[in-house]
Amino acid sequence: MSEAAPSKPQGRRFQLPEHLKAYKGVWVIVEQERGAAHSVSWELVGEARKLADKLGVEVGAVVLGAAGPDLERICGESFGYGADVVYKVTHPVLADYRTDPYARVMTDVVNTFKPEIVLLGATTLGRDLAGAIATTLATGLTADCTELDIYAENRSLAATRPTFGGTLLCTIQTLAYRPQMATVRPRVMAMPDRDETRTGQVIEVTPDLAEEDFVTKVLSFIPDSERNEAQLAFADIIVAAGKGLQKAENMSLVWDLARVLGAEVGVSRPLVQAGWVGNDRQVGQTGKTVRPTLYIAAGISGAIQHRVGMEKSDLILAINTDPNAPIFDFAHHGIVGDALKILPALTDAFSRKLSVNRLAS
Ligand SMILES: Cc1cc2nc3c(=O)[nH]c(=O)nc-3n(C[C@H](O)[C@H](O)[C@H](O)COP(=O)(O)OP(=O)(O)OC[C@H]3O[C@@H](n4cnc5c(N)ncnc54)[C@H](O)[C@@H]3O)c2cc1C
Repeated sequence: MSEAAPSKPQGRRFQLPEHLKAYKGVWVIVEQERGAAHSVSWELVGEARKLADKLGVEVGAVVLGAAGPDLERICGESFGYGADVVYKVTHPVLADYRTDPYARVMTDVVNTFKPEIVLLGATTLGRDLAGAIATTLATGLTADCTELDIYAENRSLAATRPTFGGTLLCTIQTLAYRPQMATVRPRVMAMPDRDETRTGQVIEVTPDLAEEDFVTKVLSFIPDSERNEAQLAFADIIVAAGKGLQKAENMSLVWDLARVLGAEVGVSRPLVQAGWVGNDRQVGQTGKTVRPTLYIAAGISGAIQHRVGMEKSDLILAINTDPNAPIFDFAHHGIVGDALKILPALTDAFSRKLSVNRLAS
């Protein structure tokens, strides 16, 4: 007698097996280093709030680290940004991030409390931890999502991300496994408003860990601020350059405007490939996702791989000689003209305007 073939997941019509129905709630693993939470965690708590409201479940924030006032503050912040429950996981071994102890603890915590969705920032730490725990939990992980939603038909997470070199968006579901996991890059989701008066339930977890069980040791900590790298993802204003700048020497026009505006400099990929600037300044699918209040794109065509990294900017000003350049389809304001002439004119105008304002104040 042949065994019945296992039923295949059938998209939105797939019904969750009974044993997975115990998984409830949307969790965010809050990333913190040396007492400072990464802002992507709050962006994700805001997103988790929307997903949890659609599902009618609670938002859980998992805060791991060594016990102390910093961790207490981060627990309070988690409520402020929208968490209902904080899982406070404390142990001296968790003071600094290391894959092994964090993955072991998170695997146990997930198996104990059974959340249906777990979100992490697609940062260096988040990517490392997400991959490790998705493996130990034997579940699905969708990395670098640009959109998250819930399919009402089967209550599953619809995790959308670019694919085929960014030319298509695909929506991935983890149907027959729990929890459903996803990572999202900083600045992809909007920062929620913080309500300082919000509180909730704290569940304290004290894992059974021993330092000698882990071979990796933290010898020193070098904060990011000591490295001379662009902080594009968090810049308020970005002046970005593309191939329309024509040669490396013309980048000085971009740096001049950025200096006057107090802005960071970003670029399209060909400029990184040509060695004009380092890859920490590349905006786009294989670079940084940015969300500044003002993005000035000079000599950038607006290819989809660039667009996905900057289209959520509050105001996009495009400068391009070609009136049919794709960037004009989504820029808020456009100047059809030569960036080599317009950039110095803007630098001149802004420096005069800003110095008048400074004198007046
Ligand atoms: C897998 C993959 C990943 C990628 N990832 C990224 C990524 O992360 N980021 C990214 O940027 N790209 C990425 N790309 C490359 C992307 O497809 C485009 O090739 C790139 O964004 C184009 O850069 P550009 O707009 O500077 O150059 P071009 O497309 O050559 O556009 C130059 C523009 O400048 C205009 N111009 C010319 N002269 C002037 C002038 N004097 N003044 C004003 N305008 C002028 C032209 O009209 C044109 O619109 C990726 C590609 C692939 C396949």
